[in-house]
Amino acid sequence: MIGSAYKKFAAERGLKFSNGICYGELNGFMVTLSEGRGYKDIYISAQCGQDTCGRLMAEADVLKKKYKLNAFEVNSKFVYIAFLDGVGTLKRIAAFVDEFMPQLREYGVGGAEICPECGGTLDSGCVTKLIYGHAVKLHSGCAEEIINQMRDGEEQAAEVKSNAGMGIVGAVLFGIVGAISWAIVYALGWFVGWLGALIGFMVVKGYEKFGGNIKKSVIPVFAVIVILCVIFAQFLGDAFQLGYYIQNGEIYGTFADIPSYIKILLEEEPEYRASVIKNIIIGLIFAALGVYGLFRSLISSVSSHSKKIVDLEN
Ligand SMILES: [Zn+2]
Repeated sequence: MIGSAYKKFAAERGLKFSNGICYGELNGFMVTLSEGRGYKDIYISAQCGQDTCGRLMAEADVLKKKYKLNAFEVNSKFVYIAFLDGVGTLKRIAAFVDEFMPQLREYGVGGAEICPECGGTLDSGCVTKLIYGHAVKLHSGCAEEIINQMRDGEEQAAEVKSNAGMGIVGAVLFGIVGAISWAIVYALGWFVGWLGALIGFMVVKGYEKFGGNIKKSVIPVFAVIVILCVIFAQFLGDAFQLGYYIQNGEIYGTFADIPSYIKILLEEEPEYRASVIKNIIIGLIFAALGVYGLFRSLISSVSSHSKKIVDLEN
């Protein structure tokens, strides 16, 4: 994303705004300007040979100090510069753009007329694409190749996705373990609502341990499993208690009568019904907190993969 001040800076230098970033040719190089918390950056999409990389990296420390950089990275296909955001950031960026950028050609960095993919000269058949958030000007054939590679990558990701089935099995198994813990604690006569958090935690962990890909679309599945596990936990706890009474002869019958006893209790004992509903509601609240807490930390580690290739104006 780019803020208004940096956007204005970019517009003054003839860059275009699209998809939350500014891009275009700056001093003869294809650049993308964006910013995040605590930094503003310039991504130069350019071919850099090994010599170029080495010579530029030798300057890294000097540049970092001079322009207060967070990062200075050089790679065969780009030069990346991040400026520490603070007082006078735009002045430092302007100085960098005016003083150092023109020297990049002397270091051997390919200009906007060179395709960063193949190193060939760009002709009228070139296209500009936003690839993982960065504007890249390249041959349309080279762009096709990247898109095909990404498609292959997505197909591999889809194969990984087929583990979602196993993930659900894991979620159910772990959820049952959580439910049994609940039932035991309940049968011993303690309050169990907070154990909903354990059930929620176990469901997500089970899904992950069995190879499920953690992503937002799985939330409804988790919700269904968690609800079933909490309800199961509650009635399993009652079954444990009833089983205990039957064993001791306090209630007449066999273990096989337990489901019908629970049915009778639900139908004829308003107090029992109320406590069941209360336990389940509190359990679900805690379960939601457990799922949310774990889920948020897991999803933040994978969300960066979801960016796609977007067409930009040349
Ligand atoms: Zn090319």
